[in-house]
Amino acid sequence: MAFNLNSYPVSYRSRYRAEPGSWTGEYLEKPHKTPEEEARLPEDEVRALADARNFYPDMPLISYTSQYGMSCFEGLKALPQKDGGLAIFRPDRNAARFFNSMQGLYMPPFPEGAFVEAVVEVVRRNAALGFRPAYRAAWEKDAFLNADSVYIRPFVLSEGGIGVSISREPWVVVAATTVSSYFSPGTPAALITDRIRATPKGTGWIKTAANYVVSALAKHEAAEQGFVECIFLDAAERKYVEEGSSCNAFFYLKSGELATPELGDTILPGITRASIIELARDRGVTVSERKIAIDEVLSEGRECFLSGTAAGAMPITEISYQGRKTVFNGGKEGEFTAEMRNTLKGIQYGALPDTKGWMVRVV
Ligand SMILES: *Cc1c(COP(=O)(O)O)cnc(C)c1O
Repeated sequence: MAFNLNSYPVSYRSRYRAEPGSWTGEYLEKPHKTPEEEARLPEDEVRALADARNFYPDMPLISYTSQYGMSCFEGLKALPQKDGGLAIFRPDRNAARFFNSMQGLYMPPFPEGAFVEAVVEVVRRNAALGFRPAYRAAWEKDAFLNADSVYIRPFVLSEGGIGVSISREPWVVVAATTVSSYFSPGTPAALITDRIRATPKGTGWIKTAANYVVSALAKHEAAEQGFVECIFLDAAERKYVEEGSSCNAFFYLKSGELATPELGDTILPGITRASIIELARDRGVTVSERKIAIDEVLSEGRECFLSGTAAGAMPITEISYQGRKTVFNGGKEGEFTAEMRNTLKGIQYGALPDTKGWMVRVV
């Protein structure tokens, strides 16, 4: 996913106060011109605008978030619809996970209703100013492989503080920006990393900032060796597949079973993961959430893919483990992976009927 940090002008910010024990939110409109005028600006002026929109001078620099990673976040998308509208994919699920993440960090949790409202309203207000991608019929030709969307990033920032501590009066901010999804050219190969992302009794199940240091290091190391992703094994036995740096893992086995690692305290409960499980079961596929040994993947796997808001369903056609490379499906994306990817994208962009009521209309 191509992220350029040129966030849209309208964001949302809410603050919790222990006295009286409630949240107070506001929408902020940062400096902007029209999107057409901004597109014509020289590079340095674009940068200056982007910096101005990412500047919150009344928020503390030294905090439990900036010092210790005491924070959590969400990532979700609003997608241009075939009929010209904009709709968000399952924001209620992100609201619930954000609530759980905050509770897991002993923060006062942000109410789910307020989360969905803020997310919808941020997208709507930016769209009203012209900040939104337009639907393009050309996207249908490659099943939305290179389609644009609005990426929405809700996150927590703690109050100021320097001692190691939980946050008692956090802020919640919701920002948005356009992203284009793209498949990087070349072989989608993954490396089994020997780093450890999550440990039993740790924070692997929470979408907390603190988890992403190891993920970023492992992904960087994999990229240096030419891999698009790294895949983590479990910490205790170093034997079972867990997930990617920011995506869940699926294995379509030779037996016809679709297997994905079972949730627990070391796996992030992906919303794309849950959606794919549902879509596969609808097709009569046997889906199991269980422990999957890396050896089983390498000997019994027919297709592998990773799932996440950013990746959608991303095929992995090669896995390298302990210096040995295993190729799946002759090095090409498999039929099952393509079907999952196309179905998910089709529903998201309104090209297939939303029979599950997953899409929340913004405009
Ligand atoms: C966000 C994330 C995922 C994917 O979750 P989605 O809700 O599908 O976007 C998977 N693993 C990790 C570690 C993540 O941070």
